[in-house]
Amino acid sequence: MVTVEHLTKRYGAFTAVDDLSFKIEEGHVYGFLGPNGAGKSTTMNIMTGCLSATEGQVKIDGYDIYEEPDKAKRRLGYLPEQPPLYMNETPWEYLKFVGEAKGLRGRELKSQMEAVILQTRLEGMEHWLIAKLSKGYKQRVGIAQALLGDPKIVILDEPTVGLDPIQIIEIRDLIRQLGQERTVILSSHILSEVQTICEKVLIIARGKLVAFDTPENLERLFQASHGVSFVAEARAEEINEILRELDVISGWQMETAADGRSRVDVQAASGEASDLSRSLFFAFSRKKKALLELIPKKASLEDVFIELTETDVPGAEVAEHESVDPFKNPAESKSEESGVAD
Ligand code: ADP
Ligand code: MG
Repeated sequence: MVTVEHLTKRYGAFTAVDDLSFKIEEGHVYGFLGPNGAGKSTTMNIMTGCLSATEGQVKIDGYDIYEEPDKAKRRLGYLPEQPPLYMNETPWEYLKFVGEAKGLRGRELKSQMEAVILQTRLEGMEHWLIAKLSKGYKQRVGIAQALLGDPKIVILDEPTVGLDPIQIIEIRDLIRQLGQERTVILSSHILSEVQTICEKVLIIARGKLVAFDTPENLERLFQASHGVSFVAEARAEEINEILRELDVISGWQMETAADGRSRVDVQAASGEASDLSRSLFFAFSRKKKALLELIPKKASLEDVFIELTETDVPGAEVAEHESVDPFKNPAESKSEESGVAD
């Protein structure tokens, strides 16, 4: 449905998108996940033909976005990061303008406008001034215009940014609904968002694709590196002695309770979480010490992101100290010093 091959975008000496290649298949909701400045918007702007690439190729349903832009763009609906809404127009006037620009006329234009207004639940608001609409409703107008022309692929750049929690839930529901009929690609810097909406996640950091998988598989992939937590009926020094002999372990923290039981968090050195659990089980049974609990710790997508980007992104340590927004802009300083107009 969409193929991106060796896509690169340079601004002067700065590489915003670095040799990205991936394939998007029909009928799923895909998420571009990455910190601010990762290159998500740049990639989306190139995919939709709004920006030229330095190198590489984008095909939409088989049509090259540069060589056959009309055919390619007819299959695309795009909500840019800052949709160009005209504040002193009504949604009706704005949608008519966009529909005409997409080549719709007459009855077809009107019936599509009515359909997208219903789909985005704008009915009743279509004759208000856009300026008077809430941010959530403005976003619906932006999504409605993307749906005009009945595109197979809908690309939404940070569709929930700036919305309040209720608006976010409504827009996410709308996106899920769109995903039942169309291929949807959205970008987000919020883990929980892609986790709840998307079936496939592309993690982008510093313009590079660092992972492409389902949220579940990404979690599994990194389970091993996060270890196991257990409770043992043994004294601290006995546990230390056992753990020191296991080379599948890279470190541990222990708390011993008054009843003589210890709770221990173990980090795996390598391999699968199940290998670590097995080693712990046998090591403790050899010493005739009971393990009362043995729980592999599941990595969240957040852990996965930190893991993947730590090696790639200088400054990603910011992520570990940010509890609210772990993706807060590791690349910000870089972008400022390299801002060259396109
Ligand atoms: P994201 O959408 O993931 O936050 P962007 O695609 O907007 O990231 O930006 C990627 C990088 O490219 C950033 O470092 C940004 O500052 C830089 N960049 C984007 N547009 C320009 C431009 N016109 N000139 C110079 N640098 C740019
Ligand atoms: Mg962006």
